[in-house]
Amino acid sequence: MFPFGDVNDFNIGMNQEHELFRKSIRQFCEDKLSPIIMEVERTNDIPQNVIDDAKNLGLTGIGIPQEYGGQGGDMRMLVIMSEEISRVLPSFGTMLLVNHLFVDPLIVFGTEDQKSKYVVPVATGKALAAHASTEPGAGSDVAGISTTARKSESGWVLNGRKAFITNADRADFFIASARTSPANPQSRWKGLSTFIVEKGFSGVEIGHKFDVIGLRGEQPNEVIFNDVAVPEENLVGKLDEGFKVVVTTYDYSRILIAAQAVGIAQAAFEMAFNYSTQRKAFEKPLASFEGIAFKISDMLMELEASRLLTYWAAYLADSKRPEFYMASSIAKTYSTETAEKMASLTIKIHGGAGVDRDTGVERLLRDSVITTIYEGANDIQRLTVFRSLLRMISKNLEVS
Ligand SMILES: Cc1cc2nc3c(=O)[nH]c(=O)nc-3n(C[C@H](O)[C@H](O)[C@H](O)COP(=O)(O)OP(=O)(O)OC[C@H]3O[C@@H](n4cnc5c(N)ncnc54)[C@H](O)[C@@H]3O)c2cc1C
Repeated sequence: MFPFGDVNDFNIGMNQEHELFRKSIRQFCEDKLSPIIMEVERTNDIPQNVIDDAKNLGLTGIGIPQEYGGQGGDMRMLVIMSEEISRVLPSFGTMLLVNHLFVDPLIVFGTEDQKSKYVVPVATGKALAAHASTEPGAGSDVAGISTTARKSESGWVLNGRKAFITNADRADFFIASARTSPANPQSRWKGLSTFIVEKGFSGVEIGHKFDVIGLRGEQPNEVIFNDVAVPEENLVGKLDEGFKVVVTTYDYSRILIAAQAVGIAQAAFEMAFNYSTQRKAFEKPLASFEGIAFKISDMLMELEASRLLTYWAAYLADSKRPEFYMASSIAKTYSTETAEKMASLTIKIHGGAGVDRDTGVERLLRDSVITTIYEGANDIQRLTVFRSLLRMISKNLEVS
């Protein structure tokens, strides 16, 4: 079983509560999201009334403890939500789940005051949040940022420019990383800190909106901090230990990106299968040709493997097992690359109709490519898998 211990390490732990939740999310997606897919593609905007519907249904509170205004629920529920929403409209999932890139670090590292002031409004849907780490000069290299926080009498003064920030134009609150001590070449990850910044703080500017190929409806923006005064009580976690805050957040959130990819792959599979049974060529359905049937079967195999890896990572996270770091990187990498491959195959199975924007097929490819990049590009995940493996070996797990 190396590097795992025994067969029990491969549970996924889904139960009837998870299935009932899945059915209710499916209903929401079919009722509210399916009808607006092409409108969102065209306008590149998600209608506010649909966002309000999600808030009213309590979807902003899933996975957030009830004591902080949330609905409770575990990582498996969040995974189900991400998968089901992304099967229909992945950008809506991104918009909703980016809240967790703000809330989760506060729940783990924040003070009780920070939780009641900032987590509660996000959980209850009164506010929306964003996570500002990436910069024009540093994405994968979290420690390479150049935004600074300078000590002032009452707190900190932030200066810098963040790039590709999802929800920036809608968000009320940001969690932002900044350098608080000079980088030491031997330990560059030290000396970063994370802060809660309100959009209303003087000097916060929402800059250029990126025109990225996919996730139409939720395009990221630049966020610029010009001498932004942040009170001392908005420091999240310990001073100079912000690197840990940021990467711990991604350990959890990349499972949701794996789930997003499973949702896109599911949509691709359904489209490919349906088209192959309905479309005729040479007087027969496409599916009657082995070349097409083999492709459909391969897609199903890889879809279910992705789903199992993702549910497994979520279960390990829910079970507080340290192996979840590795499992979440495995699930993210495998599922996102599967979704990209399946989206491409689905286009080919549709022939010309596959590249006609009006059929809604090619958007799957544009959306899936992004999942291989954000929340830690896949090559970074491969590094994480290998480093986790080395850590497991150093804990005396034997090859058997
Ligand atoms: C639609 C969208 C939304 C986003 N939303 C947010 C957000 O809300 N908040 C936020 O902070 N960021 C966000 N991002 C940014 C995203 O997280 C980064 O784009 C991502 O982390 C990659 O960073 P980068 O673009 O700087 O690429 P780079 O870090 O420059 O990497 C470029 C390539 O080099 C590879 N690479 C880099 N280092 C290594 C290495 N050591 N070994 C092997 N390969 C390596 C990478 O895998 C990648 O393929 C978003 C991005 C997109 C596209």
